[in-house]
Amino acid sequence: MRGTVPPVRSQTVATGEKDDVCLLCAAERITPWYHEDDVCWIADCTICDTPMVVWRWHGVDPSGDELAHMMSRLAAVADGVFDGHYYDDHMRNIPDHFHVHARPEGGFFGHGFRRDERAGRPTR
Ligand SMILES: [Zn+2]
Ligand SMILES: [Zn+2]
Repeated sequence: MRGTVPPVRSQTVATGEKDDVCLLCAAERITPWYHEDDVCWIADCTICDTPMVVWRWHGVDPSGDELAHMMSRLAAVADGVFDGHYYDDHMRNIPDHFHVHARPEGGFFGHGFRRDERAGRPTR
């Protein structure tokens, strides 16, 4: 929705390392976190208001095991937020750090679809 965003400028960072200027590496807790472990974390995307899973490491090539782990964690979170959801792995704003959004069926942004919104958004 912000139009074409230039790629995040970064030196090439080896898998398993972090990039100082990357927003996802910084992992600021500006929204509630649903989940956190050695592989990934899951929080609401501040732009989309939908849960997204973010790989712990800077890069776009998690292993098959890590990928399966992240998708199953995201599925569990998204099940609690939306009545139905799909996955969007198009990394529009931060193309060089793996993350996947769970979006509501029939929608793109979470606004108006979230169970917690309809229920008055209780604290988690
Ligand atoms: Zn987003
Ligand atoms: Zn990063």
